This record gives sequence, C-alpha cells and structure tokens, in this order.
Amino acid sequence: MKDIKVCKFGGTSMATRESINRVIDIVSADDRRKFVIVSAPGKRNKSDIKVTDQLYKIVEEQKTTGNFKESFDALKERFVSLTKELGVDFDIISELDNLEKAIANGATASYAASRGEYLSAKLLSAKTGWTFIDAKDIVRFNDCGVFDPEYTNDTAKALLQNVKGRAVIPGFYGCGADGYVKTFSRGGSDVTGSIVAGAVKASLYENWTDVSGFLVADPRIIKDPEVIETITYRELRELAYMGASVLHEDAIFPVRKEGIPINIRN
Ligand code: ADP
Ligand code: ASP
Ligand code: MG
Repeated sequence: MKDIKVCKFGGTSMATRESINRVIDIVSADDRRKFVIVSAPGKRNKSDIKVTDQLYKIVEEQKTTGNFKESFDALKERFVSLTKELGVDFDIISELDNLEKAIANGATASYAASRGEYLSAKLLSAKTGWTFIDAKDIVRFNDCGVFDPEYTNDTAKALLQNVKGRAVIPGFYGCGADGYVKTFSRGGSDVTGSIVAGAVKASLYENWTDVSGFLVADPRIIKDPEVIETITYRELRELAYMGASVLHEDAIFPVRKEGIPINIRN
C-alpha cells in the first residue's frame, strides 16, 4: 500500500457534533488519510465526564448496588442526542438497549468500556460512509492476556489491504484468546492507531488531539510550554512512560519497527 496516512482522533475530537465535523473535514482534506482510528467521546467541557469513565462507573454500580439506571440514562441521553445532531441513520437505541442488557447480565468492564470506541466509530462510519472495521477482528491478545503483535500484524495486514476507500476503526480494544473483548490500558487508542499504521506501512501516523504537539511539559501544570519540534522514538517512549500522557507509551513500538514518523497535531 502506497503513501497512506493513519489518523487517530482522541476523545476531545469525538465529543460533539462540531468536533466530529472537524474530524471529517480534516480527513477529507487529504486523500492519503485512509485509516481513521477513534476514541470514545471525551469531555465536552471541564465539568463533563468522558464516555469511557461513565461506562466504568456504570459497571461498578452494577456490581456494587445493582442499580445503574441513572448513570446509564445519562450515557443514553448523550449518544441519542449526538446521533440526532449528526443526522445519521443509525439505530443507536437498539445498540444501547443491548449494552444495558449485557451490563445487567454481568458484562465485563472491558466489554462495557470498549463500547465507547465502538459506538464512536459506528457513528462516524454512518455519517461518512467510510467502512467500519471492528478492532476485535484486528487486535489480538494471547491466552495470558498480553498483546500479540505478530498475530495482530498478520491479521491487520490481510484485512486492511483489501479496504476500498476510507475506513474507520475503534481504538482501545481487541479480542482475547478466549474470544472476549479486551482493552489496552487507559489511553490505548493511541496504540491501536500505531498498530494500524505499522500494518499498512503508513508514511505517517497522525495523532490528532487537544494540544499542538508534544510539549516540554504538561500544559495542565505549566502554562504555555514550548513545543518539541522533533524527538527520537527512544526519547518519546521515555517521556510517555514517565507520564507525558499525550501519547500512550506502547504506541511507539509498532511505528518504530517500520520507521514511521508520528505527528502529534491539534
Ligand atoms: P486524547 O483524548 O486526544 O488521546 P489525551 O488527554 O490522552 O488526549 O492527551 C492529551 C493531553 O495530554 C493534553 O491535553 C495534555 O494535558 C496532556 N499532556 C501531558 N503531557 C504532555 C506533553 N508533554 N505534551 C503535550 N500534552 C501533554
Ligand atoms: N477511551 C479510552 C480512555 O479514555 C481510550 C483512549 O481514549 O485512548 O482511556
Ligand atoms: Mg489519549
């Protein structure tokens, strides 16, 4: 596959109709942007809760008190209004009803959390017509629950090379050896993006987020930190590992293996 860009959009980018439309504009502006990896909708404002956090909260409530109705209704309201605002023909109610039943029947936290990315990707696919590819058909974990890079790379390569046009893939999760959904650790959509970039030998892995690049410090702590223009994979890995949470530390390996540059964009 020639000159392909893989783009990952984080939670802020997938949070509202406006930001999702911006995602579509960005992707559409460059024919090389073929594979799009998305996170679950993030915070819409400072006091908001990320969909992923809401899903973990719901599972916790189900386990401890059995009563998760109020929290689930809030989640439902969010997805139903987003679907309406986007004006897409997608049966979000059935999806959410199934999820509610699954959680009531003791679905794992991994499964529940993964639905944030799943629904985010489904909505973007419905809005754009880009092919939806489920991450559970690409990303594999072995029977010890550890990510299996060889299996994943082979499956991803085989599946992705036949895609016509653009495709959207949910980040964060994959399939365990037991056939059940399993997630990476928090922030794992970065890893999915890197895996896809490595598998299609992309020319560039674009990681779109809410900051203008990799900065010398976390802007939540230090005001207006400078941008690091270029950084080696090794240094990036080190900083990510030490807490520069703009990129998941495990997102370095798949692209480094193929020598693919990572570009962090706002
Ligand atoms: P996304 O949802 O797009 O994956 P994240 O919240 O995971 O976004 O990562 C972006 C956030 O990472 C920024 O808003 C910023 O607060 C934080 N961050 C921490 N360290 C750094 C750094 N060195 N450079 C840039 N951002 C950083
Ligand atoms: N939605 C997941 C999280 O909040 C994964 C991600 O955003 O990368 O951790
Ligand atoms: Mg992140």
